[in-house]
Amino acid sequence: MALIKCSECGKEISDKATICPNCGMPLRLEDRGTYDVIITREKQWFLVNPKIKVTVDTTNEYILEKNSSITVPLTTGAHTMVFSSGIRKTQTNIDVTENMNINVKFNRATGEIDVNGYKTVSQTNSPNISIGIGGGLFKGGN
Ligand SMILES: [Zn+2]
Repeated sequence: MALIKCSECGKEISDKATICPNCGMPLRLEDRGTYDVIITREKQWFLVNPKIKVTVDTTNEYILEKNSSITVPLTTGAHTMVFSSGIRKTQTNIDVTENMNINVKFNRATGEIDVNGYKTVSQTNSPNISIGIGGGLFKGGN
């Protein structure tokens, strides 16, 4: 087992690792022209905490359970991700140039799916959801 240096935190880690155990950064796969996009569902406590479906480039579907993350290998360039749960849908267009982390959570006030932590090209939420619907789904709120 060889040791390599994590480019993020500088700690020596196994070259077999997929994620730095020290800082959590995914290791680069640039020799294959592919990067790891790690999508993490932020920890939130709700009585109702539905799954979020992630559709990448209109064909590849992933399910994001609560308190979980998925790794999506993507080639360099533009990709589309749609995060949906029931009638809530957030579409993001991303430009992949490196390994990246994306954080996803429900907005407690509006019920919309908030997506952040990446280089945004554009993002649209649909439909525009009133606070009433969010309040009905998410007991407790802020
Ligand atoms: Zn590290």
